[in-house]
Amino acid sequence: MLDYKEKTVLEIAGCTCDRCRQRTTPDEFEFHEWLSVNFVAGFDSIFGDGNVVSIDLCPRCLQETLGNWLHITHP
Ligand SMILES: [Zn+2]
Repeated sequence: MLDYKEKTVLEIAGCTCDRCRQRTTPDEFEFHEWLSVNFVAGFDSIFGDGNVVSIDLCPRCLQETLGNWLHITHP
């Protein structure tokens, strides 16, 4: 017999692009093409030791800022 305990889980309710401020929610198709980066900078990092680096970009801003370096292939 399995025993269960209650657990609180957070889920994403929406996301705002850090560049253009467009907002989306998980029920919109475009939501799944957003880029989210979040990491803790390491020792002697160019971002500063231990700083948290994060950004959320909508598909249009991703294309306009990093488009030249994106690898887009046909499945
Ligand atoms: Zn944007």
